Amino acid sequence: MHPKEERTLVIIKPDGVQRSLIGEIVRRYERSGLKLIALKMFVPTPEQVMAHYLTDPDWKQKVGEKAIEAYKQKGQKVPSRSPQEIGEIVLNNLRKYLTSGPAVAMVWQGMHAVGVVRKITGGTEPLTSDVGTIRGDLTLDSYLVADTDGRAVRNLIHASGNAKEAEQEIPIWFVEEEILKYRLVGESILYDVNLDGILE
Ligand code: ADP
Ligand code: MG
Repeated sequence: MHPKEERTLVIIKPDGVQRSLIGEIVRRYERSGLKLIALKMFVPTPEQVMAHYLTDPDWKQKVGEKAIEAYKQKGQKVPSRSPQEIGEIVLNNLRKYLTSGPAVAMVWQGMHAVGVVRKITGGTEPLTSDVGTIRGDLTLDSYLVADTDGRAVRNLIHASGNAKEAEQEIPIWFVEEEILKYRLVGESILYDVNLDGILE
Protein backbone atom coordinates (compact mmCIF):
# COMPACT_ATOMS: atom_id res chain seq x y z
CA MET A 1 0.00 0.00 0.00
CA HIS A 2 1.36 3.45 -0.97
CA PRO A 3 1.38 5.89 1.98
CA LYS A 4 -1.09 8.08 0.08
CA GLU A 5 -3.70 5.32 0.48
CA GLU A 6 -3.69 5.41 4.29
CA ARG A 7 -7.22 5.73 5.72
CA THR A 8 -8.60 6.94 9.04
CA LEU A 9 -11.98 7.03 10.73
CA VAL A 10 -13.42 10.25 12.16
CA ILE A 11 -16.69 10.44 14.08
CA ILE A 12 -18.23 13.78 15.02
CA LYS A 13 -19.75 12.81 18.37
CA PRO A 14 -23.27 13.94 19.40
CA ASP A 15 -21.94 17.08 21.17
CA GLY A 16 -20.30 18.20 17.91
CA VAL A 17 -23.58 17.84 16.00
CA GLN A 18 -25.51 19.65 18.77
CA ARG A 19 -22.97 22.49 18.78
CA SER A 20 -23.55 22.98 15.00
CA LEU A 21 -19.88 22.30 14.28
CA ILE A 22 -20.21 19.74 11.44
CA GLY A 23 -19.20 22.23 8.73
CA GLU A 24 -16.35 23.75 10.74
CA ILE A 25 -14.93 20.32 11.57
CA VAL A 26 -15.16 18.99 8.00
CA ARG A 27 -13.53 22.21 6.75
CA ARG A 28 -10.51 21.72 9.00
CA TYR A 29 -9.81 18.21 7.74
CA GLU A 30 -10.69 18.97 4.12
CA ARG A 31 -8.24 21.81 3.65
CA SER A 32 -5.32 19.63 4.83
CA GLY A 33 -5.36 17.90 1.43
CA LEU A 34 -6.88 14.65 2.69
CA LYS A 35 -9.67 13.10 0.59
CA LEU A 36 -13.13 12.42 2.04
CA ILE A 37 -14.12 8.94 0.82
CA ALA A 38 -17.18 8.21 3.02
CA LEU A 39 -19.63 10.29 5.05
CA LYS A 40 -22.91 9.60 6.82
CA MET A 41 -25.15 10.75 9.66
CA PHE A 42 -26.84 8.30 12.03
CA VAL A 43 -27.46 7.49 15.72
CA PRO A 44 -24.78 5.07 16.95
CA THR A 45 -26.00 1.82 18.55
CA PRO A 46 -24.63 0.48 21.86
CA GLU A 47 -23.33 -2.57 19.94
CA GLN A 48 -21.32 -0.37 17.55
CA VAL A 49 -19.81 1.59 20.44
CA MET A 50 -18.78 -1.56 22.31
CA ALA A 51 -17.31 -3.20 19.18
CA HIS A 52 -15.48 0.02 18.37
CA TYR A 53 -13.71 0.49 21.70
CA LEU A 54 -13.07 -3.19 22.36
CA THR A 55 -11.14 -3.80 19.09
CA ASP A 56 -7.97 -3.07 21.09
CA PRO A 57 -7.80 -5.49 24.06
CA ASP A 58 -5.51 -3.07 25.96
CA TRP A 59 -7.79 -0.05 25.47
CA LYS A 60 -9.28 -0.05 29.02
CA GLN A 61 -5.83 -0.26 30.63
CA LYS A 62 -4.44 2.52 28.40
CA VAL A 63 -7.40 4.85 29.00
CA GLY A 64 -7.07 4.32 32.77
CA GLU A 65 -3.32 4.96 32.72
CA LYS A 66 -3.76 8.10 30.60
CA ALA A 67 -6.32 9.51 33.04
CA ILE A 68 -4.10 8.80 36.07
CA GLU A 69 -1.13 10.45 34.33
CA ALA A 70 -3.27 13.54 33.57
CA TYR A 71 -4.21 13.88 37.26
CA LYS A 72 -0.53 13.56 38.27
CA GLN A 73 0.58 16.16 35.69
CA LYS A 74 -1.79 18.70 37.22
CA GLY A 75 -0.80 17.80 40.80
CA GLN A 76 -4.34 16.60 41.49
CA LYS A 77 -5.36 13.71 43.74
CA VAL A 78 -5.11 10.49 41.74
CA PRO A 79 -8.29 8.32 41.76
CA SER A 80 -7.94 5.23 43.96
CA ARG A 81 -9.29 2.95 41.19
CA SER A 82 -7.04 0.72 39.06
CA PRO A 83 -6.50 1.69 35.39
CA GLN A 84 -8.67 -1.30 34.36
CA GLU A 85 -11.54 -0.11 36.61
CA ILE A 86 -11.29 3.43 35.24
CA GLY A 87 -11.35 2.00 31.70
CA GLU A 88 -14.51 0.02 32.49
CA ILE A 89 -16.29 3.12 33.82
CA VAL A 90 -15.16 5.22 30.84
CA LEU A 91 -16.48 2.59 28.40
CA ASN A 92 -19.87 2.58 30.10
CA ASN A 93 -20.04 6.39 30.03
CA LEU A 94 -18.93 6.46 26.38
CA ARG A 95 -21.79 4.14 25.46
CA LYS A 96 -24.27 6.63 26.94
CA TYR A 97 -22.52 9.62 25.35
CA LEU A 98 -22.22 8.28 21.83
CA THR A 99 -25.72 6.80 21.62
CA SER A 100 -27.37 10.00 22.89
CA GLY A 101 -28.07 11.52 19.45
CA PRO A 102 -27.00 11.85 15.82
CA ALA A 103 -23.32 11.55 14.97
CA VAL A 104 -21.43 11.96 11.68
CA ALA A 105 -18.92 9.34 10.58
CA MET A 106 -16.30 9.93 7.89
CA VAL A 107 -13.39 8.13 6.30
CA TRP A 108 -10.46 10.31 5.22
CA GLN A 109 -7.71 9.05 2.94
CA GLY A 110 -4.27 10.38 2.07
CA MET A 111 -0.62 10.48 3.04
CA HIS A 112 -0.20 10.07 6.82
CA ALA A 113 -4.00 10.33 7.17
CA VAL A 114 -4.02 8.98 10.74
CA GLY A 115 -1.30 11.30 12.05
CA VAL A 116 -2.56 14.38 10.21
CA VAL A 117 -6.10 13.86 11.52
CA ARG A 118 -4.89 13.30 15.10
CA LYS A 119 -2.82 16.50 14.86
CA ILE A 120 -5.78 18.57 13.59
CA THR A 121 -8.07 16.95 16.21
CA GLY A 122 -5.83 17.56 19.26
CA GLY A 123 -5.32 15.63 22.51
CA THR A 124 -8.11 13.80 24.33
CA GLU A 125 -8.73 16.37 27.10
CA PRO A 126 -9.98 19.73 25.73
CA LEU A 127 -8.49 21.60 28.71
CA THR A 128 -4.99 20.63 27.61
CA SER A 129 -5.45 20.07 23.85
CA ASP A 130 -3.23 22.41 21.83
CA VAL A 131 -4.50 25.77 20.62
CA GLY A 132 -5.30 25.52 16.91
CA THR A 133 -6.76 22.02 17.21
CA ILE A 134 -10.47 21.20 17.02
CA ARG A 135 -10.65 20.00 20.63
CA GLY A 136 -8.44 22.84 21.85
CA ASP A 137 -10.34 25.63 20.09
CA LEU A 138 -13.97 24.60 19.95
CA THR A 139 -14.94 23.07 23.27
CA LEU A 140 -14.31 22.93 27.04
CA ASP A 141 -13.93 19.88 29.28
CA SER A 142 -11.53 18.09 31.61
CA TYR A 143 -10.99 14.65 33.09
CA LEU A 144 -11.64 16.14 36.54
CA VAL A 145 -15.09 17.52 35.77
CA ALA A 146 -16.10 14.54 33.60
CA ASP A 147 -15.03 12.05 36.30
CA THR A 148 -16.65 14.09 39.10
CA ASP A 149 -19.91 14.20 37.17
CA GLY A 150 -19.64 10.51 36.18
CA ARG A 151 -19.68 11.03 32.42
CA ALA A 152 -17.35 10.75 29.41
CA VAL A 153 -15.07 13.63 28.43
CA ARG A 154 -16.98 15.58 25.75
CA ASN A 155 -14.41 16.30 23.10
CA LEU A 156 -16.42 16.50 19.84
CA ILE A 157 -14.50 13.90 17.83
CA HIS A 158 -13.30 10.34 17.58
CA ALA A 159 -10.19 9.89 15.45
CA SER A 160 -8.37 6.54 14.98
CA GLY A 161 -5.14 6.20 16.97
CA ASN A 162 -3.08 4.34 14.34
CA ALA A 163 -3.42 2.79 10.88
CA LYS A 164 -4.16 -0.71 12.19
CA GLU A 165 -6.84 0.60 14.56
CA ALA A 166 -8.35 2.56 11.65
CA GLU A 167 -8.64 -0.54 9.44
CA GLN A 168 -10.36 -2.41 12.31
CA GLU A 169 -12.72 0.46 13.13
CA ILE A 170 -13.88 1.42 9.62
CA PRO A 171 -15.92 -1.81 9.00
CA ILE A 172 -17.81 -1.28 12.29
CA TRP A 173 -19.34 1.90 10.87
CA PHE A 174 -19.30 1.48 7.07
CA VAL A 175 -20.08 -1.25 4.57
CA GLU A 176 -17.67 -1.50 1.65
CA GLU A 177 -20.13 0.05 -0.88
CA GLU A 178 -20.32 3.25 1.18
CA ILE A 179 -16.60 3.90 0.72
CA LEU A 180 -15.86 5.60 -2.61
CA LYS A 181 -12.84 5.15 -4.85
CA TYR A 182 -12.11 8.29 -6.86
CA ARG A 183 -9.39 10.75 -7.75
CA LEU A 184 -9.21 14.37 -6.60
CA VAL A 185 -7.50 16.66 -9.13
CA GLY A 186 -5.47 18.27 -6.30
CA GLU A 187 -3.82 14.94 -5.53
CA SER A 188 -1.43 15.31 -8.46
CA ILE A 189 -0.03 18.44 -6.79
CA LEU A 190 0.40 16.61 -3.49
CA TYR A 191 1.78 13.33 -4.77
CA ASP A 192 3.19 13.46 -8.31
CA VAL A 193 6.97 13.24 -8.51
CA ASN A 194 7.19 16.02 -11.11
CA LEU A 195 4.91 19.04 -11.22
CA ASP A 196 4.62 18.92 -15.01
CA GLY A 197 1.88 20.61 -16.99
CA ILE A 198 1.39 23.72 -14.85
CA LEU A 199 3.14 26.24 -17.12
CA GLU A 200 1.68 26.93 -20.58
P1 ADP B 1 -9.03 9.55 22.02
O1 ADP B 1 -10.49 9.79 21.66
O2 ADP B 1 -8.27 10.84 22.10
O3 ADP B 1 -8.35 8.51 21.16
P2 ADP B 1 -9.17 7.52 24.13
O4 ADP B 1 -9.19 6.49 23.05
O5 ADP B 1 -8.15 7.39 25.20
O6 ADP B 1 -9.04 9.00 23.53
O7 ADP B 1 -10.60 7.59 24.85
C1 ADP B 1 -11.78 7.51 24.09
C2 ADP B 1 -12.78 8.55 24.57
O8 ADP B 1 -13.18 8.24 25.90
C3 ADP B 1 -12.24 9.98 24.64
O9 ADP B 1 -12.29 10.65 23.41
C4 ADP B 1 -13.15 10.59 25.67
O10 ADP B 1 -14.40 10.97 25.11
C5 ADP B 1 -13.41 9.43 26.64
N1 ADP B 1 -12.49 9.38 27.79
C6 ADP B 1 -11.20 8.97 27.79
N2 ADP B 1 -10.67 9.00 29.03
C7 ADP B 1 -11.65 9.41 29.86
C8 ADP B 1 -11.74 9.64 31.29
N3 ADP B 1 -10.71 9.42 32.11
N4 ADP B 1 -12.91 10.08 31.78
C9 ADP B 1 -13.96 10.27 30.99
N5 ADP B 1 -13.95 10.09 29.64
C10 ADP B 1 -12.82 9.66 29.08
MG1 MG C 1 -8.66 6.41 21.01
